[in-house]
Amino acid sequence: MDRYGVFGNPIGHSKSPQIHAMFAAQTGQALSYEPLLAPLDDFPAFARAFFRDGLGANVTVPFKEQACRLADLLSERARRAGAVNTLKKLDDGRLLGDNTDGAGLVGDLLNAGVPLAGRRILLLGAGGAVRGVLEPLLAHKPATLIIANRTPSKAEQLVHEFAGLGPLAASAFEQLGEPVDLIVNGTSASLGGELPPLPAGLIVPGRTFCYDMMYAAAPTPFCQWAAALGAETRDGLGMLVEQAAEAFELWRGVRPDTAPVLAALRRQLNAG
Ligand code: NDP
Repeated sequence: MDRYGVFGNPIGHSKSPQIHAMFAAQTGQALSYEPLLAPLDDFPAFARAFFRDGLGANVTVPFKEQACRLADLLSERARRAGAVNTLKKLDDGRLLGDNTDGAGLVGDLLNAGVPLAGRRILLLGAGGAVRGVLEPLLAHKPATLIIANRTPSKAEQLVHEFAGLGPLAASAFEQLGEPVDLIVNGTSASLGGELPPLPAGLIVPGRTFCYDMMYAAAPTPFCQWAAALGAETRDGLGMLVEQAAEAFELWRGVRPDTAPVLAALRRQLNAG
């Protein structure tokens, strides 16, 4: 059986094995996909051992940067992101590193009917997730893309690095005020039940769409804040499924239908 998996630590919570099992069943691909608890102090040796017979793997927290260094060659989007969430063993044995997180976000926004071209977009956060989505978002030609972060120097650094790709600006949370069309929360604040300090004036009821990369059974603090101000909201479960579909296609050459998989995951999440 062709062998795949997901490296992480911890890994028990990962939904990727379920997602890829559903993709495999749907597309008639014979493969196994397992959670792989990699040791914090020796990810490279663990990953190399897996790839003696493994064909591909996803990579999650905290190994995405290490996976980037492990790969023998990188896709352009992985190189720019400085992080790898998908590894594929090529026919000659070399490991290709890719990053499908950004394509996952854009794919899910497009599924939700959210236009990107010509829009004012605000990205919250300046960590690994935001770094990974910058290039795919800019490829859709927004009017402007503002990065706001708790530590403003990190947002400024990203603007500096990605400046050639589109209209970018950095901001501190306190400087925000002008309304935007789309807000994407790429901070990990929701994980701790927190919300970045955001002015209500960012949201135009009925026009501004708000997306939280985090997902949960109950609406996240960010989605609750946005919905209370009249915005349409969506959490990151669809991004997770879309980034997985992108990885599955890279490995197997077949694009799975994501809608029924997202619906099944949502039912499971809500059932607790
Ligand atoms: P990082 O640790 O790399 O970055 C965290 C970011 O959040 C930093 O910008 C940090 O700001 C900011 N932050 C943390 N706590 C707070 C707070 N209380 N208030 C304001 N800002 C805060 O994390 P990642 O970029 O890897 O992940 C970010 C989120 O994206 C996570 O919730 C993760 O689950 C989600 N994600 C979802 C995916 C999906 O498929 N749905 C895929 C990848 C990520 P500072 O720089 O000041 O520390």
